[in-house]
Amino acid sequence: MSSIEGIVFNIQRYSIDDGPGIRTTVFFKGCPLRCPWCSNPESQSPAPQLQYRYTSCKKCGTCAGVCPNGAITVTGDGISIDRARCVVCGTCVRECPAEALTVKGERMSVNQVWKVIRRDAVYYETSGGGVTCSGGEILAQPDFVAAIFKKCREEGIHTCADTSGFGSPEAMRAVLEYADLVYFDIKHMDPRRHEELMGVPLDTIIDNLRLAAGSGVDITIRVPLIPEYNSSEENMEATAAMVRGIAPSAAISVLPYHKYGANKYASIGMEYALDELRECTPEELDRTRAIFEKHGFECTVSK
Ligand code: SF4
Ligand code: SF4
Repeated sequence: MSSIEGIVFNIQRYSIDDGPGIRTTVFFKGCPLRCPWCSNPESQSPAPQLQYRYTSCKKCGTCAGVCPNGAITVTGDGISIDRARCVVCGTCVRECPAEALTVKGERMSVNQVWKVIRRDAVYYETSGGGVTCSGGEILAQPDFVAAIFKKCREEGIHTCADTSGFGSPEAMRAVLEYADLVYFDIKHMDPRRHEELMGVPLDTIIDNLRLAAGSGVDITIRVPLIPEYNSSEENMEATAAMVRGIAPSAAISVLPYHKYGANKYASIGMEYALDELRECTPEELDRTRAIFEKHGFECTVSK
């Protein structure tokens, strides 16, 4: 089982926002959803991608000289990458003197991930932390997640599965088998609007929430609060009512919209569609918290 491989785009140590205590968060690459507000756009494609941070670039032109496919042109501001020509060979990354280029996404075995995880075992113990698998979408690589979680379980390390809930029931069951906690996202309760925004049907997600609730695992429902997209009173009421019916003992965590991931879009050749979108107002945050509390939930609102 430890020879199972998956594709990972980051392993973040000393993480404090991805579950209880100090954690190591393994970020999986590849997601079937296309939420316009995604703060990890580099997680969407399952394939490795070349990332360019122009703020680090020294404009030396070394990368353009070494690219075997002529995919890089030096411009006045730095470089331009022709992504149709780039085969993500990594030559420019190795030669860049400023670490302005990175390949996001690498195949890793469970053993390789485990070597990183076990370095921080002492922190998990002292802080009540553990390991979180996040994305991208973890249900797209269920055997890999399950194998990592199984190893954690054998060593007494707490596990948290952070999921959009979109995947097959078999994938959900495989992940649940060794999960101690599930962070389960709910984004919109109108099936038509859900499919329009995220590109996937809502009913699959609701069915998987039922599976998670039936498994007895601890659940935190995470609600990204996106002005003008899903923050209406009607949608939050519908979300609270649905969760009360399926997972009444879940905790609720509201995640207000922010633009933290916006700069990453250009760095991997994507466009950010929500540049003009405002942040949530204090009134929206208070109203949303009050709705979940009225339905009997413990609700936290992140900053
Ligand atoms: S990753 Fe390889 S193909 Fe892509 S721009 Fe760099 S050197 Fe060229
Ligand atoms: S090699 Fe690195 S620092 Fe030099 S131009 Fe290319 S990206 Fe910029």
